[in-house]
Amino acid sequence: MLESAREVATHCPYCALQCGMTLRETPQGRVEVAARDFPTNRGGLCQKGWTSAELLDHPERLTTPLLKGQPATWDEAYDFIVDGVRRVQDAHGRDAVAVFGGGGLTNEKAYTLGKFARVALRTANIDYNGRFCMSSAAAAGNRSFGIDRGLPFPMADIAEADTLLLIGANVAETMPPFARYLTEQRQRGGTQIVVDPRATPTARAATLHLQPTPGTDLALALGLLHIVVAEGLTDPAYLAERTTGWDAVRKTAAGYWPARVELLTGVPVADLEATARALAAADRAIILTARGAEQHAKGVDTVTAFINLALALGLPGRPGSGYGCLTGQGNGQGGREHGQKADQLPGYRKIDDPAARAHVAAVWGVDPDSIPGPGLSAYELLDALGQLGGPKAMLVFGSNPVVSAPRAARITERLKSLDLLVVCDFFLSETAAIADVVLPVAQWAEEDGTMTNLEGRVLRRRALRKPPPGIGTDLAVMAELASRLGRTGDGRSVTGGERSGGFSAEPYAVFEELRRATAGGVADYAGVTWERVDAENGVFWPCPAADRAGTPRLFEESFPTPDGRARMIAVEHRPVAEEIDAEYPLYLTTGRVLAQYQSGAQTRRIAALPGGPFVELHPDLAERLGIDDGDPVRVLSRRGEMTAPARVVTTIRPDTLFAPFHYSGTGRANSLTGDALDPISRMPEFKVCAVRIEPVTP
Ligand code: SF4
Repeated sequence: MLESAREVATHCPYCALQCGMTLRETPQGRVEVAARDFPTNRGGLCQKGWTSAELLDHPERLTTPLLKGQPATWDEAYDFIVDGVRRVQDAHGRDAVAVFGGGGLTNEKAYTLGKFARVALRTANIDYNGRFCMSSAAAAGNRSFGIDRGLPFPMADIAEADTLLLIGANVAETMPPFARYLTEQRQRGGTQIVVDPRATPTARAATLHLQPTPGTDLALALGLLHIVVAEGLTDPAYLAERTTGWDAVRKTAAGYWPARVELLTGVPVADLEATARALAAADRAIILTARGAEQHAKGVDTVTAFINLALALGLPGRPGSGYGCLTGQGNGQGGREHGQKADQLPGYRKIDDPAARAHVAAVWGVDPDSIPGPGLSAYELLDALGQLGGPKAMLVFGSNPVVSAPRAARITERLKSLDLLVVCDFFLSETAAIADVVLPVAQWAEEDGTMTNLEGRVLRRRALRKPPPGIGTDLAVMAELASRLGRTGDGRSVTGGERSGGFSAEPYAVFEELRRATAGGVADYAGVTWERVDAENGVFWPCPAADRAGTPRLFEESFPTPDGRARMIAVEHRPVAEEIDAEYPLYLTTGRVLAQYQSGAQTRRIAALPGGPFVELHPDLAERLGIDDGDPVRVLSRRGEMTAPARVVTTIRPDTLFAPFHYSGTGRANSLTGDALDPISRMPEFKVCAVRIEPVTP
């Protein structure tokens, strides 16, 4: 499916905005990036996108498999892996081999990875780094709406909102082309309210900035709902016709009167009232959450509380209004739909649903009973590695948990304790550096496939050129390993579905199989084809048939729940997992910066992207501790420590520090973060833990 031209229309390799770009290969073999006018980015790119092609011919690129750190042939590497997998499974059972995927993998790879784990390895233990990203919003969306699609409306609606409430999102830095929608919204006279413990560039541009104590967004949402109820601003007809559970939610909100919420959150009553009234007065109002609200041990309930607020105001399904979450990773949306989650099969099917198992088994050509049940969630899986009863081998695709996992020092030790660690990557990431086997794989501009952006729009990733000699693809690795393990599925239809044909390394063929596997599921791609995606500037799922349009807007008439109504769930505020105390008197919150992406394995290698760890603190705190801007500081938590230069800024609360999580070594912020998990989504509490800071004395 490679295009012959030396120019292709594709999308950025990084975040979920998936900006349209054109790649051109010059006669000298250099790849140039040009912005492309696509409905989402409208011709914009950020500096990460502009510089993305520099990685294609980067001198640090892996060009050969590595076996115990030494160059090896592909045959040697495959033999070593197959032998290791067999030995571990013979000694400890099938679940002793685990798989860890990533939210940057294409739909084709995410789908194949789930199938590879269940059919080729026959293991229950597969999960992915999206668990650290989207899982709380996903679980809340499923619980309330019966579906998890980040934005249930096209992004263009955001610019049209009269009132926009943005909680825990700093799009001005994380996805700058998105920020133009916010600018437009303000220029149209709209009210924009940003909730963030930091006065980020996004917050500073807003009409109103609410700066709560870290970990109190749930109380804030309940307080807003209280005001909406107390002032008679709800939409009673909508609540009666389109929701269930309102009575219990209303009763819970009664306990969150404004003065109490000011005490809990630090947000003044006047600002709470202004926010609630602005939302209620708007013809078109949109509430958006992102990682700041979601990466907590109460992330699901926090999102649920904002969904309840949106439902009380009658927003979801109303033209130009609604609730949505802003997906982070490039294929964070598609990556959570096709089976690389521990509890899930393709099409957002549940792995413990007999009908779902039968459908997928028929497509895969296996017996439904041969598909394992649910496995461990991402952090629990990583924490179990090498432990009694835990996995003894792991294969990693598109992830760098040594940097990105919470409590990272402990997770690094767990990874090192494995009998076999295999990593597929294009650079020697921190995780690849401790692997027994590293397999060099293609980059985004060398492969075809599809991604699903933050709107639920399926997009085409197009290859500009073939991978360099000696470099494989993730799909080819999975197909080869399945073949060598002798476990490709028997190709026999169990319930009359089409033959699976085993594992294909050809993304077009994989997508055709994915369409069949997702048919009838919540995330139904049956009617999406590569040809349609090309012709229609992307297709929004669900799209159950090739002759039916996609679905840009959800919930217009009903919700995909058994009774067609949204479920309102009563939730209560609760404290953070680790409160500050005399020993660790400050909150730490982590996040991203403009020039870097996720674990930094790619962007840290681009010279044009400024980088380096730092710790933000308020001038009052800095003065008290004798810290000047630029001084080296040490931040300590009960899990570990990091050192980095201080950045003394007035944009942060005096009781809070901020550190970006892109860096490794002594600058690794995840050395500090804790492992408290949300009871439903199993999301770690990345956004708040207790720390102290001290100057580093020579
Ligand atoms: S990183 Fe995100 S915002 Fe930046 S160019 Fe890429 S897709 Fe667009």
